Amino acid sequence: MIVAIDGPSGAGKSTVSKLVAKELGFSCLDTGAMYRCIAWKALREGVSLEDAEALGAIARTCRISFVHGEGEVDARAVLVDGCDVTDAIRTAEIDRAVSKVSAVPAVRTSLVEQQRVIGRAGNYVVEGRDIGTVVFADAEAKVFLTASDEERARRRVAQNAARGIGSTDFDTVLADIVARDERDSARAASPLVAADDAVLVDSTDLSQDEVVARICGLARE
Ligand code: C5P
Repeated sequence: MIVAIDGPSGAGKSTVSKLVAKELGFSCLDTGAMYRCIAWKALREGVSLEDAEALGAIARTCRISFVHGEGEVDARAVLVDGCDVTDAIRTAEIDRAVSKVSAVPAVRTSLVEQQRVIGRAGNYVVEGRDIGTVVFADAEAKVFLTASDEERARRRVAQNAARGIGSTDFDTVLADIVARDERDSARAASPLVAADDAVLVDSTDLSQDEVVARICGLARE
């Protein structure tokens, strides 16, 4: 079974996905991390973010793996060709580069293929931007998770502060997430949009527990 959770940056998808997966006894797949891995490798190799062919080649050839601890629903570490990039893919530099990389159709084709193989191997909560519309259009439960721009920026600031990675300046974070959402929504290939049959959950005024309970309820229907 697949529970698809899509939505804009900072809506709380990652935290909520982990809690839903734990509650349902599922595994959890963070597809955004995979796009971040391609952006990380491109920057590291000095590949231009305008070079669609080279970005597609990276997506086809690099090995992305998730390391799971015993009994853990979400990945403890993310590896690119064996190199631990868990923290390196969460920097402001990657935040700004990733939506250029994810707009390249060849990158999407390769990653979607890998996501389908992973997700269909078990029961998964899969989070991203195109899970309910493209990757698992036949998912058993689909949620589009949103929150106001300000609330999303506030949460991202708190997350960055806790991780010690990325900006903790509210205005900078707000401008970055709004710009990224605009690029993700405007791109031609699989734009960020709710699936027709997704249930819209606006988490602005909901507690985390309420959001998790609502999604688990949908999955159990
Ligand atoms: O979820 P996260 O913020 O880590 O995603 C990083 C970026 O990866 C998004 O801004 C988007 O450009 C891209 N992405 C995507 N499709 C997905 C997941 C993420 O295009 N399924």
